[in-house]
Amino acid sequence: MTLMAAIAHRCACGHLDFFHSSVTGACTTEGCLCQTVNAGPPEVIPTWRSDGTPTGPTVEEPAVIAPGTRGAGMGGLCGCDACQTLYASVSGNAA
Ligand SMILES: [Zn+2]
Ligand SMILES: [Zn+2]
Ligand SMILES: [Zn+2]
Repeated sequence: MTLMAAIAHRCACGHLDFFHSSVTGACTTEGCLCQTVNAGPPEVIPTWRSDGTPTGPTVEEPAVIAPGTRGAGMGGLCGCDACQTLYASVSGNAA
């Protein structure tokens, strides 16, 4: 599989928003004491799938996973307006 990218918010604790529990809001990263998501503006996070070759051809515009997508191997992605706006600008597919 080729390089992929996703959009996520980075919490003040340094971990991405989907590492935080959707129930309690606490960070699930081992050793992190963050108890509440304090997410900044969304950013594009490069991601890779583990079921592909790491030395595949480079693509100039890695596909960005649509905001709100679930089951991408990263839990559920945020689909808020800020993420949608960023997605539109980076994907070149502004509605
Ligand atoms: Zn956090
Ligand atoms: Zn954390
Ligand atoms: Zn968002």
